[in-house]
Amino acid sequence: MTDIKLKMDKVKIVRLEELVKMYKIKIEDFSKEYEPPIKRIERQTRIVSEETKKIISRFKKTLTQIKKDSGYDLTMKGRRIFFQDIETINDETEQEKQKLRERYHGLTQKGGDCARDEKEGIFVIRVAASEKEKNLCPMQILEYLSHEYGHTLGERLKDVFEEELKAYAFSSLFFRYFLGESLYKKDSSSYEEGIHKMAQRELGKILRAGLSEEVVISHLIKEKFGKAKPTDLFDFFLDN
Ligand SMILES: [Zn+2]
Repeated sequence: MTDIKLKMDKVKIVRLEELVKMYKIKIEDFSKEYEPPIKRIERQTRIVSEETKKIISRFKKTLTQIKKDSGYDLTMKGRRIFFQDIETINDETEQEKQKLRERYHGLTQKGGDCARDEKEGIFVIRVAASEKEKNLCPMQILEYLSHEYGHTLGERLKDVFEEELKAYAFSSLFFRYFLGESLYKKDSSSYEEGIHKMAQRELGKILRAGLSEEVVISHLIKEKFGKAKPTDLFDFFLDN
């Protein structure tokens, strides 16, 4: 399975080979660490079009289907969705922008984000879709929604690459239910394009190698997810 070998020397992240090595010694709970959100987030919802409301209901319906199969509590409990203008979502101070740049190895315009409000104990999911943004297509909104929802699963991982991999794996699973196919299976984004693209590309490789999104999710949340167990990912790489 040499194709799975990662080439990410530029970025200091935990690589799969290293994970496998670690597994041979001991499964360490190395990445279960909470990281606070980078900025205080705006919580005001813009006026949402009827079309967007319909998208939300389709999103929730698909969550319910995945919940049924995975046995995992995929509800909106402890999670709130806010639709905002893209300018509001991307309105960081210079200092916050710098932090994001360092964390993500580059900075692109966001279409959404997810942060945990410690005080209220809820996840705040924001997606760029206000009445102003008529050109945002439903699929795009669903991609953002499912990605950001993916960030709410399990603990927020200290390793930013793993955290993004978790979000993309959930988004991919969502679209497998919603469309019947994964959005990232054929992904061949460049490693040079920052953490998000790297995570997309890596997920593509893992899925092409024959593993399911459930296996990736289970590994990253360290809990059973459907039939998948947290050690399935390691077992696969050790056996291949
Ligand atoms: Zn993300």
